[in-house]
Amino acid sequence: MKIGVLAVQGAFREHMATLAAIGVEGVEVRLPADLDGVAGLILPGGESTTMRRLIDRWALREPILELGRSGAPIFGTCAGMIVLSTEISGGEEPVLPLLHVVVERNAFGRQLDSFETELRVPILGDTPVHAIFIRAPIIEEIGPEVDVLARLDDGRIVAVREKNVIATAFHPELAGDTRFHRLVATMAAEHADPGEGSGRRPHPIRRAKAQS
Ligand code: GLN
Repeated sequence: MKIGVLAVQGAFREHMATLAAIGVEGVEVRLPADLDGVAGLILPGGESTTMRRLIDRWALREPILELGRSGAPIFGTCAGMIVLSTEISGGEEPVLPLLHVVVERNAFGRQLDSFETELRVPILGDTPVHAIFIRAPIIEEIGPEVDVLARLDDGRIVAVREKNVIATAFHPELAGDTRFHRLVATMAAEHADPGEGSGRRPHPIRRAKAQS
């Protein structure tokens, strides 16, 4: 099983390294053909305006949307989350609108360019996630199908999931925390081979939700 990492811009190497650390084959995606045979895709942090331009230049928009609509897991971190949102505050056109949220770019302003905090992410277990925020976006509103995975202490939403789409405002790949990638890999394996146990074994996400 292979998981793609969009590699047109931004912090894709760290995601490749995290996949390698959990024994999953990562594929750097620069052209539509690179998506052949991937069971999921990670959209890294970086600069979402540049990412948007390069996604269009290399004709990646349609094939990525198709992959997302097929149910393959798509995981966006920071700029990747912006790129996945159906609405960007301020009126920018959405890029790959697979995640029904309203996102605000650079939501922490100039005073707080970047910061780190411990976040409770119940779906990943009791150990908090060391979350690194860099010129991070925030989720202002969520659609009815969107589950909140994590909030800051002040209640602002910084991680969400809508079916096969997961997004974080922060960078788990920079903190050496492999749990989000493991979750994506589990979802990808189930997507690639739906026969394996599906229907009998509850999906890890649903099981985590049911317990909370
Ligand atoms: N501020 C960037 C943007 O709006 C995102 C920052 C990041 O990905 N670390 O695109």
